[in-house]
Order: sequence, then structure tokens, then C-alpha cells
Amino acid sequence: MNSIIKNAAKCKTCGEVIESTYRHDFKTCSCGKVSVDGGKDYIRRGFPKQPPEDWFEELSIFEDKQE
Ligand SMILES: [Zn+2]
Repeated sequence: MNSIIKNAAKCKTCGEVIESTYRHDFKTCSCGKVSVDGGKDYIRRGFPKQPPEDWFEELSIFEDKQE
């Protein structure tokens, strides 16, 4: 079970870093192509089409719990 330390992504179109800090904290970058949601509860990404790496750089940090 991984817990989320940071839920963030960097848009490759406008270069903005967006971070969702709590559940249902839906953030969209300034060009509107990439969005993040979920805070520390879940990771959700919005982007125009596959593959995601064409649109944003994943900046999330997870804590790996060995339990
Ligand atoms: Zn953008």
C-alpha cells in the first residue's frame, strides 16, 4: 500500500506545475490541457489523449509502506 506524499504534475505545454493538495482539489494548468485531482487520497489526471507522457511530467511522490 503506497500513500501519497505529493500529488503534482508539470504541464509540458505551458510549463506550469499544478498540485492537488486535498481530496477533490481539482487544479488545471494555465493552458488548460492538464489537470490533477485527488490530493493525498487518490491520483487522477486529465489530459487530451494518450500517452500521458506527451502532456505532463509526473511529479508525485509516494511513500512505500512495508506493511
Ligand atoms: Zn498547461
